[in-house]
Amino acid sequence: MQPVRGNIVFITGASSGIGAATALTFAQQGARLLLCARRIQRLEAMREELLSAGAEAIHLFQLDVRDRAAVNQAIADLPDEWTAVDILVNNAGLARGMGKMHENDPDDWDEMIDTNVKGLLYVTRAIVPGMVARKRGHVVNMGSTATYNTYANGGVYCASKAAEKSISEGLKIDLLGTPVRVTTIDPGMVETEFSKVRFHGDEATAAKVYQNITPLTGEDIADAILWAVTRPAHVNIHTIVLTTIDQG
Ligand code: NDP
Repeated sequence: MQPVRGNIVFITGASSGIGAATALTFAQQGARLLLCARRIQRLEAMREELLSAGAEAIHLFQLDVRDRAAVNQAIADLPDEWTAVDILVNNAGLARGMGKMHENDPDDWDEMIDTNVKGLLYVTRAIVPGMVARKRGHVVNMGSTATYNTYANGGVYCASKAAEKSISEGLKIDLLGTPVRVTTIDPGMVETEFSKVRFHGDEATAAKVYQNITPLTGEDIADAILWAVTRPAHVNIHTIVLTTIDQG
C-alpha cells in the first residue's frame, strides 16, 4: 500500500457530496488537501472538521472549472508549497436538462458539457505536466454508470460521462512511459445534492430518486478512490464500477 500521508490531494467540487466525503477520507489519512468549488463558504465551513480529522494542511480556493482562464490563473497562483500535486480528483460535475433531448434547454447542455468535459480537461491540462515533470502523480476522474447505460431523459449527461471515459483512456495512453496513473471511478446512485441540482432545486422530485433503494454514500466512493491510489506504484486501476445492491 502506498501511504498518502503528506501527499497533496487536489479535489475539484469538494464543497458537497462525493468531493466533500473524499476530502474527509483523505484528511483521515493525513493528506494535505487542496480543495476548490464555486461555493467557497461551504469549503470554509469544512476546514475545522478536516483539520480535526487529521489533514496535515488545507488550502481552499474558489474556482469555476468551466472558466479556462480562471483555472490556469488559479493553478499559477498556488503558493509554492501547494504546486506539487500528487493526486488529482476531477470530481466537479453535475446533471442538468433531464428530459427529452428535443425538448431540452440548450443552456443545460452547455452547463453540463462545460463542467463535466471541458472543466475536467482544463484542470487536467493545468496539473498533469507538473506530475510528468516530477515523475509522480495519479489522476482520478469521476465517471458514472451512465457511461454504460444511457437512461431515459438523461442522454446528454450520459454522453458527458462517456466522454470522460474516452478522455481517461486517452490520457492513460498518452502517459505511457511515465509513472503517472489514471483511474476512472464509475458510481451508480449516490445520495448527494446531485439530484437536487439536476432537477433545478426541486427537492420533492429529487427525493423520489432514492425511494425504495439504499443508495451509495459519498464515503463509499471515497473509499474506492483511496483504495485505487494506494495500490503499489506499478499497479494502475483503470476503472472501478460501484452500484448500490438495489441497482441493476
Ligand atoms: P454534488 O452536487 O453534491 O457535488 C457536485 C460538486 O461539483 C459540488 O461540490 C459543486 O460545487 C461542484 N461543481 C459543480 N459545478 C462546478 C463548477 N462549474 N466548478 C467547480 N465545481 C463545480 O454531487 P455529487 O457529489 O453526486 O457529484 C460529484 C460527481 O459525481 C459529479 O461528477 C457527478 O457527475 C458524479 N456522479 C454522481 C452520481 C450520483 O448519483 N450522485 C453518480 C455518478 C457520478 P459548487 O456548486 O460549490 O461549485
